[in-house]
Amino acid sequence: MIHQNSSQSVAPDNPPGSVPAKADSAVEPNGASRQSKPEPGLYIVPTPIGNLRDITLRALDILQGADLIACEDTRVTGRLLQAYGLETPMTPYHDHNAARKRPALLRRLAEGARVALVSDAGTPLVADPGYRLVQEAVQAGVPVTALPGASAALVALSAAGLPTDRFLFLGFLPSRAGQRDRALAEVAGLRASLIIYESPRRLAASLAAMAGVLGEREAVVARELTKRFEEIRRGTLGALAGHYATAGAPRGEVVVVIAPPGAKAAPSDAECDDLLAEAMKTHSLRDAASLVSAQTGLPRRAVYDRALRLNRPDADTGET
Ligand code: SAM
Repeated sequence: MIHQNSSQSVAPDNPPGSVPAKADSAVEPNGASRQSKPEPGLYIVPTPIGNLRDITLRALDILQGADLIACEDTRVTGRLLQAYGLETPMTPYHDHNAARKRPALLRRLAEGARVALVSDAGTPLVADPGYRLVQEAVQAGVPVTALPGASAALVALSAAGLPTDRFLFLGFLPSRAGQRDRALAEVAGLRASLIIYESPRRLAASLAAMAGVLGEREAVVARELTKRFEEIRRGTLGALAGHYATAGAPRGEVVVVIAPPGAKAAPSDAECDDLLAEAMKTHSLRDAASLVSAQTGLPRRAVYDRALRLNRPDADTGET
């Protein structure tokens, strides 16, 4: 089953200056007034993973007010800054120069600078550079502020329709088959959904390996999230592996989400009601809800509320 999203715009509709409308007089929900210049310190700033409008007003404030933006690629971040009319100086900070650049950044921070860390897309430190910079800033007593924002892992999980109560982010699996399979075997018994970043080129082989090591489970391949050709493809690991083996490597960027062992894809409300109706023939309402919750991986409370409604269709369950 796939879904395609062709309605997403990938560029901001408003000219840069108009995004934080009435920003100078804006009052934040917590009552604090928006400041033109952030306090000194290190700011971890998520940026869009596709749709340029997926950036918060606060992230734009920080990018504007920072003395320096440390970014993976100044061309990529430069395009974002340009889209929002920001002219903050940038300096490259990526896997290949991080060890060399860190002391200078920490010196600036110690002198009271405001440094924003961004990556090419999404949340810095999530399969992206920044962990050591944050670690050393914390050790040096520099204030570190992380902003919430886009991350492909959580967008994929939210859209997957697979259990979300427990999940494990594995980042990119090792590229060598032996190491990849060992990494999968380590987590095979975990009762948690797994979130994996994967390159389109390796996708078919990886899905086949996942099916081999983890067993046949429901899974989702989430591709080009928030972009024009966003696609969410659902199926078992084996079926997905077969699809990509035949169709070839997809274009764009990909996240794989895999259901925990034994979990089925989230059933529709109608499927859940059918299971409940069947279970309530032989069980109390409470036991039927527990049974169906265990069968489906849906939260017990939600199933219990549906059971109440099934039993008394006009009952107000407090569900919103
Ligand atoms: N820091 C980023 C985040 O918070 O998601 C991830 C950076 S990592 C270097 C890049 C990987 O993230 C891609 O190979 C892909 O697996 C995933 N990714 C990033 N953007 C994506 C998108 N729009 N759709 C699907 N996957 C995406």
